[in-house]
Amino acid sequence: MQKDSTAENVFQNLRSKGLRVTPQREKILQIFMELKDGTHLSAEDLFKMLEKKNENISLATTYRTLKLLSQFGYLRELDFAEGHKHYELNEDKRPHHHIICLNCNKTMEFEDDIVNQVGYRIAEERGVEIVDIQFKIYAICPGEHDDVNKTHRS
Ligand SMILES: [Zn+2]
Ligand SMILES: [Zn+2]
Repeated sequence: MQKDSTAENVFQNLRSKGLRVTPQREKILQIFMELKDGTHLSAEDLFKMLEKKNENISLATTYRTLKLLSQFGYLRELDFAEGHKHYELNEDKRPHHHIICLNCNKTMEFEDDIVNQVGYRIAEERGVEIVDIQFKIYAICPGEHDDVNKTHRS
């Protein structure tokens, strides 16, 4: 199977940072690359997708790989309202931010230069190197909400 060149670039880069590109890491990164923009996966979501593709990767390995790929800056680790982490591909574009509906967990993405500038300014003042800027707005979306059950999800 022909590998897409962007994926190959990422794997090259991983190797140059001394990270072994195991088939599991490769598979997981590839899944993120194929996701539609604005999709966020939890470890459990990813695990289910791997199972569906008949990949023999344990949930523990899935967790570990997500952590590792985030530490190396390939994924963004997002802490949404549900109390467990979500991940998305950390692309070379401007940081985007999230609005999270506390009622149905729907997430919306937005970009805002002012938010980013504040992040860059504070990092400079403190002399730290930015890995990621995340701004979260917890809100109630205008969608239909059932009082008891979640009626829609992102
Ligand atoms: Zn996002
Ligand atoms: Zn909602």
